[in-house]
Amino acid sequence: MAIKGNNLPRVKKQNETLIKEIIYKYGPISRSKIAEMLSLTPPTITTNVTALIEQGLVYEFSTDISDSEEKGEEKVLGRRPVKINFVPDSRYAIGVETNPYNTAICMLDLRGNEICSARYEPAKDNYEKELDLLAQRIQTLIDKSKVDRECILGVGFGLPGFVEPEAGVLRESFNTGWNNKNIVRDLSRRLDLPVLIGNNARIRAIGEEMLSRTLRPESFAYYLISYGIACPMFVKSRMIIGENSTAGEAGHMVVDIHGPKCETCGHYGCLEEVASERAILKKCKTGMRAGEATMLMELCPDINSLTMKEVLTAEECLDEYVMSVMNEAILYLGVALANIINLISPPLVIIDGYIMKLKRNRRLLLEETRKHIFALSEEEIEFEFVDFDPLTGARGGAALAIKEFFIKG
Ligand SMILES: [Zn+2]
Repeated sequence: MAIKGNNLPRVKKQNETLIKEIIYKYGPISRSKIAEMLSLTPPTITTNVTALIEQGLVYEFSTDISDSEEKGEEKVLGRRPVKINFVPDSRYAIGVETNPYNTAICMLDLRGNEICSARYEPAKDNYEKELDLLAQRIQTLIDKSKVDRECILGVGFGLPGFVEPEAGVLRESFNTGWNNKNIVRDLSRRLDLPVLIGNNARIRAIGEEMLSRTLRPESFAYYLISYGIACPMFVKSRMIIGENSTAGEAGHMVVDIHGPKCETCGHYGCLEEVASERAILKKCKTGMRAGEATMLMELCPDINSLTMKEVLTAEECLDEYVMSVMNEAILYLGVALANIINLISPPLVIIDGYIMKLKRNRRLLLEETRKHIFALSEEEIEFEFVDFDPLTGARGGAALAIKEFFIKG
């Protein structure tokens, strides 16, 4: 049984984290609103906020009375309502994402504003050499930002595949040379900064949770359709990670028991093998070799260099071969998404993927998904598409660093 005296520091720490989280998500916000949202006493809020102000992390300012009245907030007679918020340039975080297409690095201030960013070719297999290179590139970014190193919270690093964040190890990914390496330890040593790693789809979901600054449901699914596919989920602000950190691996849901063998896991009929960008490119290349995908041949005479860019261009030009490949992929993506919705019933699904740049694909995905949703009406579930940005994953990495090193820290 817990001893009361020992719990006190823990309760204080928990309150501090909760207050920071509320200011982060809803700031600028008044003290009374924080007290109301967290059911904490005003003195508890004041003690914590005063400490944050003294550390230079939070500032307070008087708001326009009419503005507050408009928002229906309480008004203390004779006083202008005071709100608080985090000081954007009091802390900074670095985010990194490496995926089969590129490696993106960015630095955000505490409020999520981008200070600088850079993109490079994807990381290769040679672990030690690649990590040296990454550390150099992060250092270059820090030098360029001219930010005081002491104000940098740390680095959040997103990688595709099976990541064990607690152990700091990447168990399995597209770069087999990185498998089972302790990336947290090795990168942290090179940079002399704290480092965290996570699966890149989860990190993107954390980026949405932390940086979107819009009022959203506390439960949502984040459907990432890329070279691989994943669907991390937040339920009441907590990410479902599973006992072994493998929850959300939607790419390995079986959608066709008689389907092809999955290149990643070796089982048959995985979603990833019929609907990921990897699968789409594979089918398009097969069509090119067979002389069926003539438009793709015109757009990219070297079959091996085909990218999703040419595929989407051909789709935009209503090329029949490419449209049929995309229709089939999206049919499976819709079926899988409906299965996810039927299982966990999220009020919101955020969809992130290069192929969703095209309105046609968005419409097809929603049509296909809605065909298979059970019991929910259209109004009960919201779909939101993330505008494609090669820095989304890196921004998520920085959000992870802010969440773990600053909010919880
Ligand atoms: Zn699989």
